Amino acid sequence: MKSASIVAVGNELLNGHRVDTNSNWLQGRLLRLGFRTCRVVLVPDDVEAIAAVLEEVSRISDVVILTGGLGPTADDLTRFALGKFLGRPLEFRSDIWQTIEAFFERRGLKTASTNRVQAYLPCGAKALANPKGTACGIAAEQGGKRYFCLPGVPSEMMAMFDDSVCPELTADGQTDVIEMGKVRCFGVGESVIAEKLGDLMRRDRNPQINTTVHGGDVLLHIVAAAPDPESAGRLIEADKRLLSELLGDAVYGYDDQTLPEIVGRMLKEKRWKLAVAESCTGGLLAKMITDIPGSSEYFWGGWVTYSNEAKIRDLGVSEDLVSRYGAVSEPVAAAMASGAAQRSGADTALSISGIAGPEGGTPEKPVGMVCIGLFFQGRTEVQTFRFAPVGREAVRLRASLTALNWLRLQLKGLTV
Ligand code: ATP
Repeated sequence: MKSASIVAVGNELLNGHRVDTNSNWLQGRLLRLGFRTCRVVLVPDDVEAIAAVLEEVSRISDVVILTGGLGPTADDLTRFALGKFLGRPLEFRSDIWQTIEAFFERRGLKTASTNRVQAYLPCGAKALANPKGTACGIAAEQGGKRYFCLPGVPSEMMAMFDDSVCPELTADGQTDVIEMGKVRCFGVGESVIAEKLGDLMRRDRNPQINTTVHGGDVLLHIVAAAPDPESAGRLIEADKRLLSELLGDAVYGYDDQTLPEIVGRMLKEKRWKLAVAESCTGGLLAKMITDIPGSSEYFWGGWVTYSNEAKIRDLGVSEDLVSRYGAVSEPVAAAMASGAAQRSGADTALSISGIAGPEGGTPEKPVGMVCIGLFFQGRTEVQTFRFAPVGREAVRLRASLTALNWLRLQLKGLTV
């Protein structure tokens, strides 16, 4: 796979005034064209600094895309830096100057003399048309490497990339297309996955497999390169099957599927109703379930029983259990799940009671400790989890997803 670097030019990108969105967009586009981005560099408006970065990234990239610094003002220095790096003087191009004058004429404006600088390109470079602005882009080649300078304005940059750079990069027909797919797992650590996958995560393998983690959700990103979309798609599908075999029950879905969506689908197939009883998650579990359109078919509803009083009054948890074991305990979580099932008449019920933090932890019951109850096929089971105390939201998210995943595994057990 060919490699690309992106150089985003502008002081505003380094002093916190502007977020570099151009590079993010370009990375996605480049990947689809078969170029893996190996460097993204932010550089100030400084000829020496830009030229030095070009020197560095040109060693490791087949293609370098620069954005920003093509305007007519004194701080727009990209063309000078490219000329310096290439060792080529800038030459005035009357055809570009005419295009700039025509651009202003169409708007009934006189061209300012400061715009003249935009008609200068390094010798031998090509101008890339900018239908949306005055700054034309620059394309140059040297030593088998290609350099493209695009304006900083995101809308101009995007249009010019698609109209002018994209055809240049695909013209030689040697670039592969890239397809992406995801395998979604829950409840297994990244290191366990890495161990199971072993050689499959090799960096020189095609497809490449990368992992990311969020709230216990582990995503395996499959990136396949092939001469055509069908072949790339076949590589993705083969890897999805392979990863599913290796990771078994940990895999809950593919691509953009979510855990609430998968559990919802399973409940719907069984024509089951689910009820929930939540304490520390404060309704997050119910929110996740009802985020899915059509969830009324399988979601009965639930309770947010935050106080002991609510647990006792609304779910019928015995006062004795609460005072003997505390609200965050397996007996209370079990009683919450049983109570929710009994009072709703639902087929299955989940309960969550835990310590989300940041305060309220004790040595016996630290922040991150969460008891989850599950009423399933007439029996109530309960499990205690100790999630990393990395913030209230993170604990609540992890608890809700863990509860759903437990239900998923139980439902799966029924079908296999
Ligand atoms: P112009 O002809 O408008 O001067 P230019 O090529 O010189 O274009 P800049 O002056 O560097 O580009 O930036 C123009 C606008 O685009 C500014 O508002 C700037 O903040 C924004 N911009 C520049 N680079 C980026 C980037 N990497 N991501 C998002 N916005 C950017």
